[in-house]
Amino acid sequence: MADAATAYDVIIIGGGPGGYNAAIRAGQLGLKVACVEARNTLGGTCLNVGCMPSKALLHASELYELAGKEFAKIGIDATPSLNLGQMQTAKADSVDQLTKGIEFLFKKNKVDWLKGRGRILAKGQVEVTAADGTKTVYGCKDIVIATGSEPTPLPGVAFEEGKVIDSTGALSLAKVPEHLIVVGAGVIGLELGSVWRRLGARVTVVEFLDAVGAGMDAEVATAFQRALTKQGMAFKMGTKVTGAKVTDAGVELTIEPAAGGASETLTGDVVLVAIGRRPYTDGLGIEALGVETDKRGFIGNDHLKVADGIWVIGDVTHGPMLAHKAEEDAVAAIELIAGQPGHVDYALVPSVIYTSPEVAWIGRTEAQLNEAGVAFKKGKFPFSANSRAKINHETEGFVKVLADATTDRVLGVHIFGPEAGEMIHEACVLMAFGGASEDLARICHAHPTRSEAVRQAAMGVDGWIMQA
Ligand code: FAD
Ligand code: NAD
Repeated sequence: MADAATAYDVIIIGGGPGGYNAAIRAGQLGLKVACVEARNTLGGTCLNVGCMPSKALLHASELYELAGKEFAKIGIDATPSLNLGQMQTAKADSVDQLTKGIEFLFKKNKVDWLKGRGRILAKGQVEVTAADGTKTVYGCKDIVIATGSEPTPLPGVAFEEGKVIDSTGALSLAKVPEHLIVVGAGVIGLELGSVWRRLGARVTVVEFLDAVGAGMDAEVATAFQRALTKQGMAFKMGTKVTGAKVTDAGVELTIEPAAGGASETLTGDVVLVAIGRRPYTDGLGIEALGVETDKRGFIGNDHLKVADGIWVIGDVTHGPMLAHKAEEDAVAAIELIAGQPGHVDYALVPSVIYTSPEVAWIGRTEAQLNEAGVAFKKGKFPFSANSRAKINHETEGFVKVLADATTDRVLGVHIFGPEAGEMIHEACVLMAFGGASEDLARICHAHPTRSEAVRQAAMGVDGWIMQA
């Protein structure tokens, strides 16, 4: 074993949104920092096989569908034909540019990329195994674990390339499936299901629960599922998968009602398993340090520090498994390491589903407020009454603002509609400052914008909607 006791202030294990943001922030604060990443490229799940390639395909497939189905209505005659190879190449080029961008930022911020697989030997000691098997041990004051997550397999249903696939497989299909069966009506299932439906697949989604969207506001979930159904997606709700048989033609999936009952067989050429992700800690060596995982495999708690000199951020620890949450953890952990007051408000992490229309929300749902016994008022405004949405023929959906019945402080904002993922951020800022619905209602919004619907919904809390 080679020995290179180079003393770093911080070694970060994992180069995803948690790891690379931590590394960059450490560099900015003048810490001597290294980031260990086993992949050939930086950026983690998000840049390589997650957020970014999925958004590339969502964007391209949305344009394809618009060109085929909507352009003629506004006077543009076009007959698009799909070049899936080029769509995948364009996606790969964008991903390549993004991952190289992180390499550039590492150089700019004096971050050393230690290429290989990291293992914690002891407090302040990380062993890195390079692709050729060479092992080097590096020393540091603090270690940040940012090893991310991996797809959760469906018990009894083994992955098989091209047939029973996870999200990574679904991002790189070389041909549009005839019938794609998606297991799990969460974020991945609905985003990637939308991609392949738009490109021509028949898509059936099998979901264990009775509602889509893994915990979104129930009223939004109902409207969202209705919209996806209208677009052509089929749903088998309240249904569990009991088995899968891979044949030459594809996959036979046995399903039955979650509450029990007669089983049936669904036949598809591809099955996408998207039932969640689980923390990834294989070979990390945390057991020897006495750092424990919970029964689902997550390390630590909400406090980022798990032991003296050991920190944990991103998907591998608690909280929503989102790139921007990993980034928040990263900045807070490094600032704490640097002796500054780092902090994350987990109640104010927005969620976005990048379908069409999009869904975005922040704060609490109606059900959560009811369950907590919080009295609240509600303002709701439909995009069918928003002039910009009307002009753009994007009138599906609504904005809902939930505010405390006594103080008027905004407790939750839920948007189902065009560009919801961009519009949610005025609610994020408002809520971070403890704003009231009246604050939002009295702030001038440019006309004509979709964001006026957010303002109108805020006006609705006090009953003075003006545009509907
Ligand atoms: P990761 O991004 O998983 O990075 C961890 C890195 O650590 C990996 O590169 C891995 O190779 C490396 N690693 C692990 N163990 C070791 C080791 N021992 N040594 C060296 N390296 C190691 N989130 C959003 O916010 N918005 C989205 O639109 C979105 N879309 C998504 C779409 C898909 C299809 C998927 C799968 C996920 C999506 N996510 C999205 C979730 C997002 O990708 C994750 O929340 C985010 O990547 C978590 O960042 P992380 O740094 O914690 O972990
Ligand atoms: P998810 O938690 O969003 O959804 C999983 C769904 O599968 C849930 O609806 C759940 O009820 C269902 N399910 C679980 N077990 C099942 C079973 N046995 N049979 C049928 N249904 C079952 O998980 P995901 O869609 O796999 O996404 C994983 C993570 O990646 C999420 O935490 C998400 O935050 C993140 N992600 C985020 C984005 C985004 O921000 N736009 C996009 C993709 C992924």
